[in-house]
Amino acid sequence: MDGCLFCKIAAGEIPSKKAYEDDLVYAFHDIHPLRPTHVLVIPKRHIASLAQVSAADEPVLGRLLAVAQKLAAENGSTDGFRCIVNTGRIGGQEVPHLHLHILGGPAPVGPMVEKI
Ligand code: AMP
Ligand code: ZN
Repeated sequence: MDGCLFCKIAAGEIPSKKAYEDDLVYAFHDIHPLRPTHVLVIPKRHIASLAQVSAADEPVLGRLLAVAQKLAAENGSTDGFRCIVNTGRIGGQEVPHLHLHILGGPAPVGPMVEKI
């Protein structure tokens, strides 16, 4: 999609630190890592968020999760990891192109969210 930051990253028009790529998804290191392992996995085709998916997107949604284990292990998180998909305003999504955060490292990631 024109003007989309992550579409440009997937197309190689904006540089990123690539972690993985296949026919459906592209993975790269988060520019502001929150844990020692912080990889983002995105669909190559523009999908704005989990609030915009349809049944036709099931193969790419499956792939996003299926590659997480390998990406975590290859990037320093061999004993588990956490996946987060921030969605829309309530979910705190900043970049409007669906992305899976993979967080981990040698130490536990920490509490899920703060109780409010
Ligand atoms: P979210 O709040 O779920 O939309 O997360 C967006 C993430 O994208 C944040 O963790 C940012 O640090 C990350 N990010 C933004 N721009 C870039 C970029 N050019 N390269 C890598 N990560 C980025
Ligand atoms: Zn996009």
